[in-house]
Amino acid sequence: MDFPQTFLLIVAFLTGLSFGSFLNVIVYRLPLRKSIATPPSSCPSCSSRLGFVDLIPLFGYLVLHGHCRYCGVKISIRYPLVEMSVGLLFLFTFLKFGFTMTAFYNLTLLYLLTAIALIDLEHRIVPNTLVATGLILGLLMQLPSIFSYWFNVSPVYLTGRSPVDALLGFLAGGAVLLIVFIVSRGGMGAGDVKLIAMIGFYAGLRGTALVLLLAFLFGALVGLTFMALGRLTRKDALPFAPYLSLAAYIQVFWGDLIWNWYINFLI
Ligand SMILES: [Zn+2]
Repeated sequence: MDFPQTFLLIVAFLTGLSFGSFLNVIVYRLPLRKSIATPPSSCPSCSSRLGFVDLIPLFGYLVLHGHCRYCGVKISIRYPLVEMSVGLLFLFTFLKFGFTMTAFYNLTLLYLLTAIALIDLEHRIVPNTLVATGLILGLLMQLPSIFSYWFNVSPVYLTGRSPVDALLGFLAGGAVLLIVFIVSRGGMGAGDVKLIAMIGFYAGLRGTALVLLLAFLFGALVGLTFMALGRLTRKDALPFAPYLSLAAYIQVFWGDLIWNWYINFLI
């Protein structure tokens, strides 16, 4: 790997850390219907406005040894863990896809899904704002492809996904979960239906099939484990967004690999 490439990847990782810090803000404030832009971050316990050094991702946590500078309250390890994870997400996405539109396309999906999964785990809701943001950004990134398709120019699929495939994934994903939603009589949330339609737009038809398969598999495994441990009855609603998110991560990074393996298995 040459020098500019390594340098860009380091920049990508550091940018990811900052986006991870912002993701913490989204996860904390969005369910409380607070603005994610203002006011600047403050300690949830004593409300002291955080200083510049405190706000540096990871570094701030390390310098303060995980405690608020002003009141000494313990800061959850989740904050630096999320920052680190998003930093690595940026690093590995650009490592896999290079500095391309495809990288930004997949990064947008996985970043939003990480926020949605964390909010669903804590509050059992899938915020419409984040799902809508995903659809709007996805559509914007598809515009060059849509125009080239429309005007019959040799199509350029900068996102690595043709607009037709995106539309099919959107419809298929939404339809499958809509059926589950109706059959289970609301046992599955309406938010999950919108969410899988959004994932379908990014993943395309084949990708959506894999995401759904994996998500139901993970959900069943975890659900049965908890039931066996007696920690859960059949009636408990489980958050589904975390499984969908995990499945989408696997689809983005190893979807083609799994697909090729499956094809080889068949023939
Ligand atoms: Zn404090």
